[in-house]
Amino acid sequence: MKIWIFAELSRRRLSQVALELISCARGLAADAKVTAVLIGHDLDAAIREAAAVGAAQIIAADHPLLENYDDCRYEAILTNLVRKYNPDILLGGATAVGRALLPRCAVKLHTGLTADCTQLAIEPEKGLLLQTRPAFGGNLFATIKTAEHRPQMATVRPQVMKVTPFTMVEEPEIIHVAPSEDELKGSFDWLDFIPKPESDNDLRNAKVIVTAGYGCGPDGVKLVRDFAAAAGATLAASRPVVDAGWLPYSCQVGQTGTTVQPDIYVAVGVSGAIQHWVGMSNAKKIIAINKDSDCFMMQQADVAVQADLFALLPAVISKIKKN
Ligand SMILES: Cc1cc2nc3c(=O)[nH]c(=O)nc-3n(C[C@H](O)[C@H](O)[C@H](O)COP(=O)(O)OP(=O)(O)OC[C@H]3O[C@@H](n4cnc5c(N)ncnc54)[C@H](O)[C@@H]3O)c2cc1C
Repeated sequence: MKIWIFAELSRRRLSQVALELISCARGLAADAKVTAVLIGHDLDAAIREAAAVGAAQIIAADHPLLENYDDCRYEAILTNLVRKYNPDILLGGATAVGRALLPRCAVKLHTGLTADCTQLAIEPEKGLLLQTRPAFGGNLFATIKTAEHRPQMATVRPQVMKVTPFTMVEEPEIIHVAPSEDELKGSFDWLDFIPKPESDNDLRNAKVIVTAGYGCGPDGVKLVRDFAAAAGATLAASRPVVDAGWLPYSCQVGQTGTTVQPDIYVAVGVSGAIQHWVGMSNAKKIIAINKDSDCFMMQQADVAVQADLFALLPAVISKIKKN
């Protein structure tokens, strides 16, 4: 089974979601042959990264004009490669670039695409890709198949797949492709790259996250902020907390916020609605603090502390500060 990953780059390095997808694709089927497709410039480092995480084949389209993402150039190159090699499956990250590029390719290739998947599997009987994503406002999960058309295409949310260890037995096959003049016709002029300022609230890379839920109210959010600061954790929020304006959107975890994978996730006054759960269920350890022991978050947590946060947190904060 030929599984292709559009291996998105970030400043000439493989993006985290590309590493996750290559790793995930290896485990999808026993006969999976995973190909990483790299489009960019000066790709040597990215080729090494794709090989190290388990790509059996790497297709590299390298040209100075491909240094920065361009809808037309990338789409032309990727669709022509698909037409030439006929992969069974083509996956990409549900990132700004993946969400722009893969639907364009799907239209050109006359095939279907499931956006924002949170789970992938192969149907044992027919070998079809089972593409699972939240549907109807996240109230249920829909599993979608592309039975008639090829390739089967999906974008996958960053941080939902895990990068698993890989030992290279054989060097991957590397195919260098020279883009044609037609493929290099661009759609806009690139003026400048201005990096996003470093945020001190980097949820994606946080090891310990403390989240304020709606049950905290504005005063409780301040307490949770103090708790996070004392514990050296990154502060996060559920959506109603953001909607109420108590914390900024950059703090939001969940389906319409950030997906996180910390070692420890402390949910304070968070009920555990599915739209929140899909954004944090990959945390290694979940600690819930809630008055209601029956809520989903408390039921699922590794450690469930039934308490009123206003009674518990001041004591915990002063204990941490004393130590
Ligand atoms: C399309 C769509 C997308 C969405 N995307 C997101 C998303 O990205 N992220 C997200 O979080 N939500 C999202 N939601 C909203 C989601 O459905 C829930 O409404 C939300 O997650 C609930 O947030 P919460 O758990 O903080 O609040 P609630 O569900 O109101 O829970 C509050 C909890 O606090 C507890 N509590 C109350 N007082 C105390 C106290 N004093 N001490 C301890 N515990 C207390 C209560 O027992 C309760 O369990 C989305 C919804 C839709 C329809």
